[in-house]
Amino acid sequence: MAWLVGYPREKIQWYPTVDLSKCVKCGMCMNCGKNVFEWTENGPRVARPYECTISCTVCANLCPGNAISFPDVQYIRDLYKKEGIWAKVKEQMLKSGKIW
Ligand code: SF4
Ligand code: SF4
Repeated sequence: MAWLVGYPREKIQWYPTVDLSKCVKCGMCMNCGKNVFEWTENGPRVARPYECTISCTVCANLCPGNAISFPDVQYIRDLYKKEGIWAKVKEQMLKSGKIW
């Protein structure tokens, strides 16, 4: 993941949590392009949490049961600041010519 610039994904606790008591088993979350969820007889299970795109919340936004939650996005913003990830991303974008 280029925009993590070498920072280990496993050190970033960003992934969905499903409250199965609210899940209506519509299957919408299974549409995630990152294949984070796995379907079980009880509904979705977060099988590959670290495949989740950091700060994405699409599955939660589209869940009709409001069954999916995420940490507060401020957690990510604080981490990016603390670890200098924003600055490293900029450096990489400049190097690759995506920004100038
Ligand atoms: S989108 Fe929400 S309601 Fe639908 S299956 Fe996933 S968790 Fe359940
Ligand atoms: S937040 Fe985005 S990437 Fe993560 S599981 Fe939901 S839809 Fe997939």
